[in-house]
Amino acid sequence: MTPELEQLYQEIIGCQKCILSQSRRNPVPGEGPEEAEIVFIGEAPGFHEDQQGRPFVGSAGKFLEELLASIGFRREDVYICNVIKCRPPGNRDPLPNEIEACQPYLDRQLALIRPKIVVTLGRFSLSRFFPNAKISTVHGRPRKMEGIIYYPVYHPAAALHQPRWRPVVEEDFKRIPEILAQIEGLPDEGPRENAEQLSLF
Ligand code: URA
Repeated sequence: MTPELEQLYQEIIGCQKCILSQSRRNPVPGEGPEEAEIVFIGEAPGFHEDQQGRPFVGSAGKFLEELLASIGFRREDVYICNVIKCRPPGNRDPLPNEIEACQPYLDRQLALIRPKIVVTLGRFSLSRFFPNAKISTVHGRPRKMEGIIYYPVYHPAAALHQPRWRPVVEEDFKRIPEILAQIEGLPDEGPRENAEQLSLF
């Protein structure tokens, strides 16, 4: 691991910037190769993630691994993390101040890994990048901004709870290899902040 990423993990492990630090068992910084081309960003650690200090190790993680296998990837090939690094009690939704406190960690993670594609899993992850976008409208639509593709999909856990979203998630995942192959050809829309103002996908 590069010293910068190691330093970041240490900061997350010692973080006390929000109230979740008091109830967590383990912070969950993220895992995967630093040279990963794809980063998957979920919402927040759940029970099992909190127990183990690793992202996506419960039922949503098992489904994520199946989705990855369907496109020829193993979880070791990609980088996996969350918008917030500590489990909200009872798996409640993350609060705005918790997301804000964790934001610099995610920003630094992405700056260090420099992926080609950021796959946002679910609405919290999507709104971290596109605050006004609706996942039901924008899922499955890649946008390239300043050299990075942002690709929103439904959260695997949502698809487990809502059977009608399962084929949608599966189809959206199936497009990932094609998007990777076509990165150079996709038009770049420039800074994300401007693109968000101009159009919502
Ligand atoms: N759901 C998430 O969003 N992240 C995890 O790590 C596990 C489940």
